[in-house]
Amino acid sequence: MNMITNHMPTAELQRLDAAHHFHPFTDKAGLAAKGARVITRGEGVWLTDSEGHRIIDGMAGLWCVNIGYGRKELAQVAARQMEELAYYNTFFQTTHVPAIALAAEIAKLAPGDLNHVFFAGSGSEANDTNIRLVRRYWDVKGMPWRKTIIARWNGYHGSTMGGGSLGGMKPIHAHGGKIDGIEHIDQPDWWSEGGDMTPDDFGLARARQLEEKILQLGPDNVAAFIGEPVQGAGGVIIPPVTYWPEIQRICDKYGILLIADEVITGFGRTGNWFGSQTFGIKPHIMTIAKGLSSGYQPIGGSIVCDEVAEVVGGAGEFFHGYTYSGHPVAAAVALENLRIMQDEKIVEHVRDVAHPYLKERWDALAEHPMVGEAKLVGLMGSIALTPDKAKRASFPEAANVGYRTRERCFANDLIMRAVGDRMIIAPPLVITTDEIDILIDRAKKSLDESYASLKADGMFVAR
Ligand SMILES: *Cc1c(COP(=O)(O)O)cnc(C)c1O
Repeated sequence: MNMITNHMPTAELQRLDAAHHFHPFTDKAGLAAKGARVITRGEGVWLTDSEGHRIIDGMAGLWCVNIGYGRKELAQVAARQMEELAYYNTFFQTTHVPAIALAAEIAKLAPGDLNHVFFAGSGSEANDTNIRLVRRYWDVKGMPWRKTIIARWNGYHGSTMGGGSLGGMKPIHAHGGKIDGIEHIDQPDWWSEGGDMTPDDFGLARARQLEEKILQLGPDNVAAFIGEPVQGAGGVIIPPVTYWPEIQRICDKYGILLIADEVITGFGRTGNWFGSQTFGIKPHIMTIAKGLSSGYQPIGGSIVCDEVAEVVGGAGEFFHGYTYSGHPVAAAVALENLRIMQDEKIVEHVRDVAHPYLKERWDALAEHPMVGEAKLVGLMGSIALTPDKAKRASFPEAANVGYRTRERCFANDLIMRAVGDRMIIAPPLVITTDEIDILIDRAKKSLDESYASLKADGMFVAR
């Protein structure tokens, strides 16, 4: 076998990568032409690439490396667990200490009576679990007709068949289709869809689409509603304050199970342990992954309330599970991650230090000539790029403004992601105020360069 090391020339790594590595969410031809950026090391909020650039990671990987890169404690726990018990399953009435300890710790941290954890290997898998769990719940309750799950357009719930179907991203549905029994309502994105309404009125109007949809389907046919407290991959869409209380009221009124997909918002991202606490949501089920292990091991799960766990658990075997449900190494690493989060008071750091500091600087970006709104909750934020702030106008498609700006960020050693015309950030939760200054300075420089190039190309115009 050839050894592939960090010391090979970048061009050779890129050639092998393009030849044999089939990337997720990537245009293969585009990648082959350009060559992937090869990341070789991580330390805190910093990445190093194969050319020696030091990059500030404004996205915590994919919203997951919440405690930052390079924490040796996690590596040591993983090595110790592999030596002691590298694998055993949790099917058929067996268990092991890491899964027991992690489930108990999650139950302690989760609000209300969310006391039961069904483990999965990822957020997508956990949402597939949720589909089967809520349908099984209504079967056992003697209402097998309650099958439909309502979700939102432009929501993201993963990329398996189930997760991709719950998500409301049409390009994903277009590749492989969508499973039956999932309906979508519109998202609470005031900037792009709010028209002349105030944000508060718009939040209510969008939440009331849930009631309209329930009545249209027949309340007896609806199993659950699923939503991210803040849409992440959809562009960090922070809903108007009126939105979630109205969603909660409607779910309560019709007795519909409420699933909060906390894969991004869980474990401190919004300045509380869970986004549901920040937005006053009382879910029956929470989806978790990403920050659970800070991305050091693949692990996800569903945190389930007493009622749902008792109903489904009290009706014989639930024919569902993954070989790696509660994998001992992943569970041990997640547990150590949660210990560090608590011992180092990382959620408090987000709430009391990093968020207030970033908020002031992030909001000030709205003064830039191409930035409309700047939104931030905890340490997840977005800015809307626009050629006309008053009209909340969009750039022409050909301006490719998000991609163009993201490329400037990359060139300036900052990772920010583009979603359509929005630029988004979700840095590691351990980011310091000095590092926030660097992130903002690089973001501003990138915006300036993008703005200048749009002007030069005659693209600083409304669609
Ligand atoms: C990332 C994400 C998922 C999918 O998680 P994977 O681990 O990639 O399968 C699900 N829901 C939300 C809200 C996510 O951001």
